[in-house]
Amino acid sequence: MNDRRRQIADRWQRAVDDVHQAAVQAGRSPDCVRIVGVSKYVDTETTLMLIEAGCSELGESRPQQLAKKAEAISGFPTLRWHLVGHLQSNKVRRTVHFADTIHSIDSVDLLRRVDRAAGELGKSPQLFIEINISGDESKHGFAAEEAVRQAADFFQTEHAHVVGLMAMAGLEADSAESRRQFAALRNLRDRIVAETGKSLPELSMGMSGDFREAIAEGSTLVRIGSRLFDS
Ligand SMILES: *Cc1c(COP(=O)(O)O)cnc(C)c1O
Repeated sequence: MNDRRRQIADRWQRAVDDVHQAAVQAGRSPDCVRIVGVSKYVDTETTLMLIEAGCSELGESRPQQLAKKAEAISGFPTLRWHLVGHLQSNKVRRTVHFADTIHSIDSVDLLRRVDRAAGELGKSPQLFIEINISGDESKHGFAAEEAVRQAADFFQTEHAHVVGLMAMAGLEADSAESRRQFAALRNLRDRIVAETGKSLPELSMGMSGDFREAIAEGSTLVRIGSRLFDS
């Protein structure tokens, strides 16, 4: 086993252990929190090392990178690809072809395009509605009130399924502020569920620096990248 391979395997195992521990500390079952290994920082070869270490859900932030890696990596039947970054409308079809989950639905128009492409390609992707919970201007996503207003539309799909909300804490947020923002995302989810009567079981929140706060506030899916790969 070469050094890089061993390092990635160790890092992955440590992330699994830390996520597990954070769930237990929050009084939650560790089985309720999945980890997406965000491989956007590394090449296909290193991504393969992560898969071999046991990561079966991979996240990419750029549609082109996701398609390129998903095309190059085959032979892992349980592997699932997640798009975590912004999706431009001209990349929808190719992304729906390769991605099982899209975390970045930031308009009803994009939702409709994804649903249409899913129908054409015979796919049924899981989708997250991205919320700009911090209010940072640089971030994509629905404003909270806008999401409440448009919530009925989230459930008008035929092929794709909206399963939850996704957000990132603000760039300036410290631990306490991140936790407040994650709590706000959970409350928003609860409000949409109450108002629509639909189910939104998933919360995609938490990254390398703030997954503990996110898990304490109910995250079901953390997106972890840099702590797997930083040297
Ligand atoms: C890069 C990225 C991540 C991973 O963040 P790290 O801090 O590297 O763990 C998670 N979510 C999104 C949307 C990202 O772009």
